[in-house]
Amino acid sequence: MIPLFKDSSQKINNLKQLYSLIHKHGPITKGSLVELSGLKQSTCARLIEELLEEDAILESGLAESSGGRKPLTYQINPRLFYLIGIDISRIYSKILLMDLDLSVLGEARMSMRENSTPELTIDWIQAEVTRLLEKHQIPLSSVLGLGIGAVGPLNRETGMITNPSNFPSIGWRNVPICQILGDYFDRPVLLDNGANTAVLGEYRYGFWTEADSMVYNITGVGIRCGTLANGQVIRGPVDMEGAYGHMTVDIHGKKCTCGRYGCLNAYSTTLAIQEEVMQRLKRGHPSLLRNKGLDVEHIEFTEICAAVKEQDPLCCEVVHEAAYYYGIGLANMMVLLHPNLVVLGGALVTEMDYFYDVTTQTAKEKLGFYPDYPIHFSRGRLGENAIAVGAGSMVFESCLR
Ligand SMILES: [Zn+2]
Repeated sequence: MIPLFKDSSQKINNLKQLYSLIHKHGPITKGSLVELSGLKQSTCARLIEELLEEDAILESGLAESSGGRKPLTYQINPRLFYLIGIDISRIYSKILLMDLDLSVLGEARMSMRENSTPELTIDWIQAEVTRLLEKHQIPLSSVLGLGIGAVGPLNRETGMITNPSNFPSIGWRNVPICQILGDYFDRPVLLDNGANTAVLGEYRYGFWTEADSMVYNITGVGIRCGTLANGQVIRGPVDMEGAYGHMTVDIHGKKCTCGRYGCLNAYSTTLAIQEEVMQRLKRGHPSLLRNKGLDVEHIEFTEICAAVKEQDPLCCEVVHEAAYYYGIGLANMMVLLHPNLVVLGGALVTEMDYFYDVTTQTAKEKLGFYPDYPIHFSRGRLGENAIAVGAGSMVFESCLR
C-alpha cells in the first residue's frame, strides 16, 4: 500500500488534501490547486511530482490558456486501486466491482428470499467477489477494501448487522459480517446503513460539485433516510436509519408497527399501501383490481402499480394519500435541515411516477412560505446502484481521512 493511503503526518496530510482536490475537481491545473489548497506554489509542485511518481495521479491534457503556454491538467489514476461495494437489502443484494472513479467494472445480484440466511448470503458474497476479481484479473492486494450498505439497525463500530426488520429470511441477528469477510479476504471491511451509503454514493458520483448538503430517502418496504451536510454524512451516536419513518405526520393517525400513532410508516410504505387498498376493496370500493378477479386478501404491490398506470380510482386515491403524507414528512425534514438537494429512491418512487409527482408537489407547497429557498428534487443518477456505489466510496473516503 502506498503511503498516501495509510500514513498520517503533516506531509501526508498535505498529499491527501491535494489528492482529494484533484479527485473532486480534476482535470485541474496546478494554479487552481494552489488557489484551492492554500499551499505554496513550490510545495504544491513538489507534492504533484510525488503523486505522479506514485502513479496516484495522471497528466490528463492541457487546459485553455488565458495567454501564454497552455497549462497541464491532472486527474486521479482511477485504476491505481479498486473498490468492492455491497448492498444488502430486503428485496435483493448486490455486489459492485469499481475503480476509484466509481465506474462499475462488474456486478452480481441476488434476490433475497426466505432461504437467504446470513450464511447463504455471505457464501454468495465470497464466491462472487472472487469471481469478479478473477474475471477482471485484479489481485486482492489491489482492492482498497470492501464496503457494505445494509438494513439497520446495525453497529458500525463492531461491524455487526444487529436486527434488520422485514427481512424475508430468519437468522439476521447479530451477524459479525465485517469480521467474517475481513478474515476471508484479508482486506478492510466497513459497514454502514444503506441510506447513509446511498447519500454518499449519489454525492460522490455526480452531485458533489453542485450541492454540499443532501438528503437521500428510500421508501419501499420500509422508510430509510441518509443525510449529508458540508460534504459529510451525518451519523448519530447509534444507527437510526429508520427513524424518519417514525416521524409523526398525524397525531390522530393510524397505528404504526412501533405501537405509536400517526407515524409516516403507517401511510407511505409498500406494505401500508397494500394494506389500505385491501381494506377498501373489502369495504366494497369499486376498482379495476376487483374486475381482475384478484384475491382481496393478497394484493401484490406490482398489481397496485399497474392499476395506478391504468388510473384506477381506488389505487390512485390510496397512493395519492401515501404520497401526500410523504410530502409532509419531507417538508418537515427540509424545514429543519434545509438541504440543497433531496434525492428520492426506493420502490415507491422508481415504480410510480404518480407517487414522486404528488410527493414533490406537496413538499413544495408546504415550503411555499420560503419562496427564495431553492428546492431541488431528484431521483438520483445511480438508481439501484446507489447503496453499493456509496459503500465502495465509503472505503475510499476512509483511506483519505
Ligand atoms: Zn412508528
